[in-house]
Amino acid sequence: MDKIENFACRVCGLIQGEEPWGECGEDPNFNICDCCGVEFGYEDYTKESIKAYRKKWLEAGTNWWTLKEKPKDWDIEKQLQNIPIDYQ
Ligand SMILES: [Zn+2]
Repeated sequence: MDKIENFACRVCGLIQGEEPWGECGEDPNFNICDCCGVEFGYEDYTKESIKAYRKKWLEAGTNWWTLKEKPKDWDIEKQLQNIPIDYQ
């Protein structure tokens, strides 16, 4: 499991430094996503909670949790495409 999608936040698609749900995809590291602010293993525990969290984040204006990490040329549409297909 070293596919790029395994490194993507399941909510917003931001590529993380390490796999948020571990190598097996079932072992969350409880880090916070710099972009959407989800805690891996908590708000992204089910498909439903992922979609609910994403909807809330999108509706709130897609604010970055850690603003200093936001790229100057940030492209949200491109980033959303990183979300693993099962969680879109
Ligand atoms: Zn995220």
